Amino acid sequence: SKMDGRGTWRFFEPAMDASLQSRRALEIDLREAMDKQEFALFYQPIYDLRRDRISGFEALLRWQHPNRGFVPPDQFIPLAEEIGLIAPLGEWVLNRACEQAANWPDELKIAVNVSASQFRDPKFADVIANAIDASALSPHRLELEITESVLLGNSSETIATLHELKARGLRIALDDFGTGYSSLSYLRSFPFDKIKIDQSFVRDATATKGSKLIVRAITSLGRSLGMTTTAEGVETVEQLNQMKAEGCNEAQGFLFSRPVPATELASTILSLRNG
Ligand code: C2E
Ligand code: CA
Ligand code: CA
Ligand code: CA
Repeated sequence: SKMDGRGTWRFFEPAMDASLQSRRALEIDLREAMDKQEFALFYQPIYDLRRDRISGFEALLRWQHPNRGFVPPDQFIPLAEEIGLIAPLGEWVLNRACEQAANWPDELKIAVNVSASQFRDPKFADVIANAIDASALSPHRLELEITESVLLGNSSETIATLHELKARGLRIALDDFGTGYSSLSYLRSFPFDKIKIDQSFVRDATATKGSKLIVRAITSLGRSLGMTTTAEGVETVEQLNQMKAEGCNEAQGFLFSRPVPATELASTILSLRNG
């Protein structure tokens, strides 16, 4: 709003209304989405470059709305956090992912994304324990992907939760590595099992010397800290060869497979096995 010449408030109502209304409408739809079973998990293979085979899958949340169509997670997960829906939604994701992964061959891991507020929920450790108990999934097959934002503030509770989960046998990966602030200090606060190199570096690594050197530095850091490094967003053979040359342990991206519904997992595994 803005003061006009006559000392009255002039609101730019139509525009403000429109964006507010569409946000409210999205909020209402999101609140109903769980009951209406509009969520699904898609799975994207993570490829082990040394063993030359799939090591597991990352679960990626999908919302299919009858009128909106497909709503990408970047558009509704932040909203779910804001309106307090992330706890039940995150719990659904964990239960579903564990339940499905329990049917896969034992050597395949399942990676689940956990948002900051979900992780900071005091009940989070119980949610994990329940998902593992209900599915009978062996805990070492479950990997949680967290971002640096979880570690922001470096609270002792966060570190304690991470250690508790690790003591239960879960693996912890640091997602989108290199995009947040003071990344290096976070590597000191907790012994992560894995570093996922953000796709922005992977995308540029074949073209830009700076990105190539950053990938090299991250893999060498991971190696010396005993952490697995995974290159995200590998789309071309050139990028794959670059990641191999830099010593990345794993790769993930459209070159191998897009995220697929659970029903297409077997055929995805087969097609990757046959080259
Ligand atoms: P993320 O965890 O970094 O997931 C990787 C994203 O990159 C996914 O987008 C995936 O589809 C996409 N991707 C994979 N390979 C390639 C590639 O080769 N090229 C390109 N251009 N993209 C690729 P998606 O599924 O849209 O998810 C976006 C973000 O939403 C995720 O980023 C994650 O932060 C969040 N997210 C997804 N599912 C969940 C969930 O269950 N819980 C929470 N808290 N966050 C989730
Ligand atoms: Ca992730
Ligand atoms: Ca990522
Ligand atoms: Ca991301």
